[in-house]
Amino acid sequence: MTFRCTSTCEISDHTFRWAQRLPCADHGEVDWAFLDDLRCVLGGGEHEFHATWLRSGSELERDVYLCWLDNPGMQWVVDAEVCLKTRTRLGSACTIYKGHPGRCEWDCADTEAAVRPA
Ligand SMILES: [Zn+2]
Ligand SMILES: [Zn+2]
Repeated sequence: MTFRCTSTCEISDHTFRWAQRLPCADHGEVDWAFLDDLRCVLGGGEHEFHATWLRSGSELERDVYLCWLDNPGMQWVVDAEVCLKTRTRLGSACTIYKGHPGRCEWDCADTEAAVRPA
């Protein structure tokens, strides 16, 4: 069983302004994550940096991710293609960026929240 990483991040004003300036998809509205609760979405295995979904991206299958290191002050944003792998044809798609380390979102148990049945 893989558990989700527990690292959290406080986004800086600088990073937030940077993320606001990134382009958004044609349909206009940008969806944002709840900024007071930014937690790594990767599995608890080894990963070079932490990452979480921050806002919708420049195209339909792209999203903007906030990435950070445990070293405070090291954070950046990327506009990246979304993984979108599914476990079953009807299952929900993985919303982590394409090529992410570790397991897909739906294959990681959250240590804090109850595990939802697939
Ligand atoms: Zn992490
Ligand atoms: Zn995935």
